[in-house]
Amino acid sequence: MKKVLKSPEPEELKIYKDNYITQFRKWEQARKARVKIGSGKKAKKVEIKDVIPSTLIADQKGICAYCEMTIHENFFSVEHFIPCHLSTQQKNYDLDWQNMLGNCSPPGGLLKEDLQKLEIPHKFPCCGKAKDKFVPDGQLLNPLELPTSRLFRFRSRDGEIMPDENACEQAGIAVASVQFTIDILNLNVDRLKRHRKTVIDEINQEIYERQGEIDNQVLLEKQIASERLSNDKEKWSKFFTTIRWVLGEGAEKHLLDISYSG
Ligand SMILES: [Zn+2]
Repeated sequence: MKKVLKSPEPEELKIYKDNYITQFRKWEQARKARVKIGSGKKAKKVEIKDVIPSTLIADQKGICAYCEMTIHENFFSVEHFIPCHLSTQQKNYDLDWQNMLGNCSPPGGLLKEDLQKLEIPHKFPCCGKAKDKFVPDGQLLNPLELPTSRLFRFRSRDGEIMPDENACEQAGIAVASVQFTIDILNLNVDRLKRHRKTVIDEINQEIYERQGEIDNQVLLEKQIASERLSNDKEKWSKFFTTIRWVLGEGAEKHLLDISYSG
């Protein structure tokens, strides 16, 4: 999980909410709705479900807000950080833009063909599917409120994600909260660990193969970080935080250079 920067609320959602200001509307109703944008000849009807996913994916630069697997519009769900069953007319979490995150679906990077073969996502869910109706109680970290520093570390042997105790202390975030977040979102489900291990192995191999290219280890890692975590690309690489951890000081120097903010 990394910090997510959120763009302003899409105009279409604002218009929809204004249209139904006196009526309670669930997300399931809103997502199917069409709203009129613009006036006169420039007026057009836009579906909410065409706007919200693409904006969330753009904000998160193509990775799941929880597990950091690649997401795109065909494999995607809108996650409500505070679950929708708590929504009321007075406080409608369903339509609260700040409560919406882009999540992987099928969970944790499973592809459609995996779904046909296996019952894994139902037996071993992760991210929003694992969190389900859990009501955030202050312990669960919200990607919108994370510091820009890396709160997680990993185990090369098997790709396990863990709290980075030093980073937590520096950021003033309880290690227990980070561990709790990992557990609630089931971020150590086997398939995610395997994906992360592959990324870790791949980068370590790259560092090894490019030793002769730059004499200084940190500068080499910085160079690789600049290629893998480039700000110019529309998308972040999947498992951004894992890559950041493997490349250590080099990654931090690179992120400082590009004024990384989330
Ligand atoms: Zn995910």
